[in-house]
Amino acid sequence: MNNIEKGIYLPRGKIEEIKRKRFKSVVKYAYDNSAFYRRLFKENGVDVESIKSPEDITKLPFTTKQHLREAYPLKMSCVPKERIVRIQMSGGTTGQPVIIPYTREDVEQWKEMLLRAFYIAGITSKDVIQITPAFGLWNGGFGFHFAADAINAFVIPIGAGNTRNQIKFMVDFGTTVLCATASYPLRIAEIAEEMGYEPSELPVNKMLLGAEPWSDEMRRQIEKTFNARAFDIPGLTEMGGVGTVGFECPDRNGLHIWEDNYIVEIVDPETGEVVDDGEEGEVVYTSLNRKAMPLLRYRSGEVSAVVSREKCECGIEHMVIKRIRGRTDDMVIYKGVKFYPSDVEQILAYHGVRHYIIEVGNGIRVIFEGENGLTRRIAKDIKEFLGFTPRIEAVANGTLERFEGKAKRLVRG
Ligand SMILES: [Zn+2]
Repeated sequence: MNNIEKGIYLPRGKIEEIKRKRFKSVVKYAYDNSAFYRRLFKENGVDVESIKSPEDITKLPFTTKQHLREAYPLKMSCVPKERIVRIQMSGGTTGQPVIIPYTREDVEQWKEMLLRAFYIAGITSKDVIQITPAFGLWNGGFGFHFAADAINAFVIPIGAGNTRNQIKFMVDFGTTVLCATASYPLRIAEIAEEMGYEPSELPVNKMLLGAEPWSDEMRRQIEKTFNARAFDIPGLTEMGGVGTVGFECPDRNGLHIWEDNYIVEIVDPETGEVVDDGEEGEVVYTSLNRKAMPLLRYRSGEVSAVVSREKCECGIEHMVIKRIRGRTDDMVIYKGVKFYPSDVEQILAYHGVRHYIIEVGNGIRVIFEGENGLTRRIAKDIKEFLGFTPRIEAVANGTLERFEGKAKRLVRG
């Protein structure tokens, strides 16, 4: 067994042992090396000596995106600048950028976590890997690249945009693995058809899709359209980038969290209290072995729930959480009903809809590309499954905006 397999199939006892050791040391490390954490602990009356095991984690205060903004450029870093080998940037189009620094070890950790994903997905040196997320400050492109390069695959580091060219390369170089944002494959399918290709005949047979919540129904559509297997790859820049925190269970029971590298808690977004397993809440991450800027109890805004802490049917013993349903700031509350855009997508995709937007203002309007005749059935399903009645409007194919990166399907008026 190589190191990657060993990490994936760590037995429960070993996971607990590593978690325990790394948790204690990362708290001490952050406290000793970062003025930010010393102040945060002091403000919250935390005695670092009292933090001994993962059970003590709730004694620690949360860290937030606001902290990261205030820490610009490197105020939260735990290492001298000479040890930083690169930075990446996370979300937020306005205000102070959120910067995540990496040491050499952090880049290695990123790569290792992605190699676990590649292993589970069965991606090998024989694959031709087309990387469509941007190469730049956003984390997607480079993350995939580090792992694809490490296994000596044929890498096409094409980056974002120019869909016609993407398809030309897929055909000409025989791309077998597509790395992309979850909304991109359907755009590719559309352009491929325009170019005279049947998407199911493109050589792509595996897809690693992430960066935004996408429903199971959308997955069924993508897999059918391309005759390929689509994996959900989680990960956020704050935790080191795409593919770091875990990977989808090969039996599709949810997302396995790499617990030797991250502690995940699910909390009530209002009270911050940890909720029971099975109950939905906000995902809070603690990175256990990142060096430049480990984050303790980071409020991610992602919405999920613990599925299981038992050994999974697939043989992996790392805990399972649900695929990310949405982000707390995408939640819509309408006449007392709470839902996420991905819930509406699930219903639309079931009816074969690929392109849609949800307008939230004075009431809710769902606009989709497709037949007028579908509106009544969609309305009935939304009422039945989600409990509200939106205005529904069908528009002609090609009317709505297309996305090559993260899709913006929720419009608040
Ligand atoms: Zn599993």
